Amino acid sequence: MASSTHAVSATPLTRLKGIGDKMAERFARLGIESVEQLLFHLPLRYEDRTRITPLGALRAGVHAVIQGEVQLSEIKFARRRMLLTRLSDRTGFITLRFFHFNARQQESLSRGNWLRAYGEVRRGSAGLEMVHPEFSMIEPASAPEVEPSLTPIYPATEGLHQLTLRNAMHQALALLRSDRLQLPELLPAELLNGESLPGLKQALLYVHQPPVEADLDELLEAQHPAMQRLIIEDLLAHVLSLRQLRQRSQTHQARILCVHNEPGERFLAALPFELTGAQQRVVNEIDRDLQQGVPMQRLVQGDVGSGKTVVAALAALAAVQTGAQAAIMAPTEILAEQHYRNFDQWLAPLGINVTWLSGKAKQGERRAALEKLSSGQAAIAVGTHALFQEEVMFDDLALVIIDEQHRFGVHQRLALREKGRRNDVLPHQLIMTATPIPRTLSMAVYADLDCSVIDELPPGRTPVETVVIPDTRRDEVVARVHQACRAGSQVYWVCTLIEESEALQCQAAEETAQVLAEALPDVRIGLVHGRLKPADKEAVMTRFKAGELDLLVATTVIEVGVDVPNAGLMIIENAERLGLAQLHQLRGRVGRGSRASACVLMYHGSLSTNARERLAVMRRSNDGFEIARKDMELRGPGEVLGTRQTGMLQLKIADLQRDEALMPTVIQLSDQLLRDRPEAVTPLIQRWVGQAVRYGSV
Ligand code: ADP
Ligand code: MG
Repeated sequence: MASSTHAVSATPLTRLKGIGDKMAERFARLGIESVEQLLFHLPLRYEDRTRITPLGALRAGVHAVIQGEVQLSEIKFARRRMLLTRLSDRTGFITLRFFHFNARQQESLSRGNWLRAYGEVRRGSAGLEMVHPEFSMIEPASAPEVEPSLTPIYPATEGLHQLTLRNAMHQALALLRSDRLQLPELLPAELLNGESLPGLKQALLYVHQPPVEADLDELLEAQHPAMQRLIIEDLLAHVLSLRQLRQRSQTHQARILCVHNEPGERFLAALPFELTGAQQRVVNEIDRDLQQGVPMQRLVQGDVGSGKTVVAALAALAAVQTGAQAAIMAPTEILAEQHYRNFDQWLAPLGINVTWLSGKAKQGERRAALEKLSSGQAAIAVGTHALFQEEVMFDDLALVIIDEQHRFGVHQRLALREKGRRNDVLPHQLIMTATPIPRTLSMAVYADLDCSVIDELPPGRTPVETVVIPDTRRDEVVARVHQACRAGSQVYWVCTLIEESEALQCQAAEETAQVLAEALPDVRIGLVHGRLKPADKEAVMTRFKAGELDLLVATTVIEVGVDVPNAGLMIIENAERLGLAQLHQLRGRVGRGSRASACVLMYHGSLSTNARERLAVMRRSNDGFEIARKDMELRGPGEVLGTRQTGMLQLKIADLQRDEALMPTVIQLSDQLLRDRPEAVTPLIQRWVGQAVRYGSV
């Protein structure tokens, strides 16, 4: 329960005239459950209905309020039945065109009546016209006044139209203006004064009812101080909700893990390489966290191939050496299998039992794995989301590692952490992502996490040369594959399809493998796709890894994590259909060894502008940061980070990309509020994030 000082007052919508229970339900569909929430439902755009344009001054393309006398109204049959009304004033005339009209409307459109109308002016066959304008009859002598301020257009929904919204908003704004409805100011006065930002009440009144002289571009592009102020609050509330989540977990305890241990030394010594400077730095950052008595919550961002797995293995070793367990969760079966093999190969020689829990494992295997985890016989568990199913129990889970975070929701992350909870003691969490995002954005999206960046690739990597080719030149591509195989390199051939259907993708891969086998009889070809049995899939992958296969035809199941350093060429079919993040991930499967590598992006048909741009970015850049930035430009951060699906960052009005420049202010403000005005935090979160914070109590 919130204490009374924290309580956010809520005025029921039904207090407004014209809104009954039924209508209130429709508002609820827009997420609006109180008059206060209604006030935060901001206009999408505005219409200028503040003045009447003389008919002689109209231009095609503008929206305008007009008025005049009906000269003529007649029903015509062109291709369809329609009603044409000619309206004139002293300066000119215009035609109003209606395809649907009832008798009453027809009556008001009779000759001699005066009308006022609003709509878009278009060029028609007989001069300017408006199609289906809003209109009403007026008395020319006592015409009603025009709107005093710009008319807002709100996001609406079925059964809830502009007029209802506007009417409700009108009443809500009147309550606000007269202070019969209180919306406490939650931003510090110093900020508002310092940045010349308006108070909340003033900002809302302005945004809902901008004066005639308002700069609409400035408002719509969110550059106006009234918008900026609201956006800052929106971002702030989200950052605070994540930081609150974090603060809550910091009130818990965690095991102090033994980071500098002898097996760790042996493990490092046995690796065929030295850690890069960046890896070492991140390992140190993790080690420092693991020695605190509070749960680590660290995100490691590192481009594809930057070597995150070794870093994870060292952390897992620390848990095991302390006598506890670690769990590693990966988003796909193939990736989980691969982690399992890596960890097992690295750690089994140190006497550490690694077990693997797959969604597709047979009953018996599964039961055995579960038994080993609950008894503590297995020190490390690797698996997919199968790991956080209810029957999975750990003896003593002290560290949770999650690979490729953006595939999982916050809920899943927290659910896995709960498996390690012992009263007040929580496991440490290490999260790894190959979608590096700009720092200012990560401050918002990952505000509940500390961030480390592996900003260096292991030495000796040569950048992947990327070419873009239409699939009409397939023969050349096949020849290139042949050449690469004969030169001792291994090749991926990735099949994709428009349809999201896994079955069709698999079929396409099967057909491609067959065609390639006929064209290249001396090349040893393997096939993996999502429909193979796990054991078969693993067998093929193992043979490819061991160099017993030259060419691996695959669906996008190999997208993340698969690691075969000798692979030097990748062909991606229908590359125009994949997003940048996915292309970068796929391409990251090559260029892992020291040989020069290449990626051929084959496309089908003609390219859309957007697809052309994506492929051009791939050709030009190998840098995950740059590609992620471009991806966000093209698709928006919500899609790229998967926050849209996981509901993690549902901003009401802010746009992470457009408003990135505000982030430093927001972060600073969040520090300040947490320190000086903690009582403002919960109301802010409730005002802007509301329901979405439920995961906070998982
Ligand atoms: P990712 O960050 O994409 O998960 P991986 O952990 O799969 O990358 O590492 C990619 C490849 O680089 C693996 O073959 C791994 O063994 C190798 N690798 C990791 N660190 C180094 C290093 N410091 N020097 C050389 N190779 C390394
Ligand atoms: Mg990886």
